[in-house]
Amino acid sequence: MNWSRLKARLLAAGRVRLSGEPADCFVERSRAGPSAGSGGSVFFSVGTGRIRRVRLSVDPASEIELVHLGGGRAEIRLDGEIFEGQLEPVALHCPRQAYITISEGCIFRCTYCPVPSQEARVKSPEEVAALVKRVLPHIDAISLTSGVVGSVEEDEQRVLEVVKRVVGHGKPVGVSIYPLENTPRRLHALGVAEVKFNLETATRSLFAEHCPGLDREALCRALRESVGLFGRNHVFSNVILGLGETDEEMEHCIEELCAAGVIPVIRPLTPTAGCSDYPRPSAARIEKINAVHERHLALAGLDPTEALTMCVACTGCDLVPGRDT
Ligand code: SF4
Repeated sequence: MNWSRLKARLLAAGRVRLSGEPADCFVERSRAGPSAGSGGSVFFSVGTGRIRRVRLSVDPASEIELVHLGGGRAEIRLDGEIFEGQLEPVALHCPRQAYITISEGCIFRCTYCPVPSQEARVKSPEEVAALVKRVLPHIDAISLTSGVVGSVEEDEQRVLEVVKRVVGHGKPVGVSIYPLENTPRRLHALGVAEVKFNLETATRSLFAEHCPGLDREALCRALRESVGLFGRNHVFSNVILGLGETDEEMEHCIEELCAAGVIPVIRPLTPTAGCSDYPRPSAARIEKINAVHERHLALAGLDPTEALTMCVACTGCDLVPGRDT
């Protein structure tokens, strides 16, 4: 089994059973991303120079075993095969990045997202600056995201204040928030290197169903404007795989994003919150859509290996053409 097939299998399962030596120092307990609020996750990777990585939730009931052999050396046991690699230390939220959620909580109620049910908490700019400083020697990038606490306007203001404090560290800064009119311009003017505005669903009708109160056209406008400001290969959009879209609908969405110069992040659904009874996409479907994704990126001349920040640089939760091949 090659890496991309193994990763598709692991993403479809989503979880591993940890055994072997104690691995607590490798377990990350995030309040953001697909495993927000869960019992923790680990990053298993293979390779040295060119790291290939997957993020997996820790679940004692998983049929996939991840054995920690000590000192971070680890192996995954799946269908009688053994895959050697390592557990990666996490900086903040993921390896090699300070990926920080500024407002934990949200006034919106997207069906698939566990964040609105968490207790709302807002980090001050001073708090974020101190967090970044603590991990600075261990990171390549600073990434910022935020739920929406109060209003979209208030939240953007908080993010802009944080950007001003962290942009001078000589690390690329990526930002993923819900955009207002001219948000890309304001972020670009402060020295942000990359942005991610998430379309979340493959189609307009799924967006209306799953993201009540959010404006898909505003997201599309922000993405288009961002490509002109930040450049190709530096603008991203998450699209969840498994919300009921057909393969053709997902391909159409990927094609449109790529044609606009945006790198799609195709995120297999983690069934949680209002989507907890949805099935995870199968490994075969993840692989099939990955091939489509790879083809449209190539047709548009886009290269995910150029990404510096956020999910395309991390790759933990998705198959990323060019990085996982
Ligand atoms: S891919 Fe994105 S959401 Fe997943 S662990 Fe990495 S940075 Fe977090």
